[in-house]
Amino acid sequence: MNETHDPALRSWVESANVAGADFPIQNLPVGVFRRRGTSEAGRVGVAIGDAILDVAACLDAGLFTGEAREVAAACRVPALNALMALDASAMRALRDAVSRLLRVGGDARAERARASLLVPMAEAELQLPAQVGDYTDFYASVHHATNVGRMFRPDNPLLPNYKWVPIGYHGRASSLVVSGTPVVRPRGQIKPPSADVPRVDRTQSLDYELEVGAFVRRGNPLGTPVPLARAEEHLFGICLVNDWSARDIQAWEYQPLGPFLGKSFATTVSPWVVTMEALEPFRGPGPVRPAGDPPLLDYLRDDGDRARGGIALTLEVHLRTARMREQGAPPACVSRVSFTTMYWTFAQMLAHHTSNGCNLRPGDLIASGTVSGEAPDSRGCLLERTWRGQEPLELPGGEVRRFLEDGDEVILRGYCEREGAVRIGLGACSGIVLAAP
Ligand code: CA
Repeated sequence: MNETHDPALRSWVESANVAGADFPIQNLPVGVFRRRGTSEAGRVGVAIGDAILDVAACLDAGLFTGEAREVAAACRVPALNALMALDASAMRALRDAVSRLLRVGGDARAERARASLLVPMAEAELQLPAQVGDYTDFYASVHHATNVGRMFRPDNPLLPNYKWVPIGYHGRASSLVVSGTPVVRPRGQIKPPSADVPRVDRTQSLDYELEVGAFVRRGNPLGTPVPLARAEEHLFGICLVNDWSARDIQAWEYQPLGPFLGKSFATTVSPWVVTMEALEPFRGPGPVRPAGDPPLLDYLRDDGDRARGGIALTLEVHLRTARMREQGAPPACVSRVSFTTMYWTFAQMLAHHTSNGCNLRPGDLIASGTVSGEAPDSRGCLLERTWRGQEPLELPGGEVRRFLEDGDEVILRGYCEREGAVRIGLGACSGIVLAAP
């Protein structure tokens, strides 16, 4: 850790100092924005309170020197890929410089020029943070895997490979959308258990999946695995991911090759990427393997990962129906879970992903899979939360949900808290369900 994590730091952007704010000066997540309603090019910004620091504008104003100036030159474009292609030292240099510009008692030139450097978040249009070449979705929550397995195989919930190999599949990058983008209910082949043949229909079991995404920093050449001890160097930062799923389409199509059209219609990503540097105060032990679990194979075992592979991150799912919105009722929190309940760390997922020589590229997205804990109210999708609709969820106001209805808005949130550190948040990852055409 360094001075950018100092809990005593305050920003002259007052909204950043409010207790419980997602974007205090200790966070400084990066994203891509432009002024709403303009045709100006998107560019990299840093979230601070309820505003965005325009990095390129700071560069043009001559506020950066040394390495930070070179790194900021990668911020004139509407994607973080160029930043993600650099070493961790580059992001540290930019973070140090931005922290000094935004703090009380720092470089006062930024505050004097605030009108040209800061854009209110309410006046900005946030874009996908990176051009994602490849998107991989893992299945790293043992509680999620066990619950889903139990529904379909009561006697043998967890498949024999689960505790040996981080299970994943290749997702669809073209249908990644930024938070706030509406999601159209998909149609597809559906075959209810009672039917002899499938029909094409709108999905009757639209679901969300609460996930955490990690963006890849730097690449690895094809044929060159990344050892677990070096895997963290290839992680740039994290965001929230909603892997929307049509359970009826999925159930009919998924064997033998896995998810396809039941997942590829949309995946929502939050716009702010919280860097690994910002997460430093919240790192802790990786998953503790229960006694009796098989030993980790060598390439998945590392003392550093065991000691620091975990992230003290709390995740929440909030739901607001059309009726709740009309009545002015706030979204209802329907699940809360800790990311420390995961069975595999991001470093293990990345090391496994490259273990066959597969090359990752800057800006690739690795998602964790649905994050679920042991308790029913910590389950990260409706399939589990309502146990396939058998235990409907009752919302404040009396509405009941088995799966998502048209007009429902799903809002994911995440935040890191620890004594002696300032809370940082991931912001929101939201989407409203639109009726099928
Ligand atoms: Ca998923």
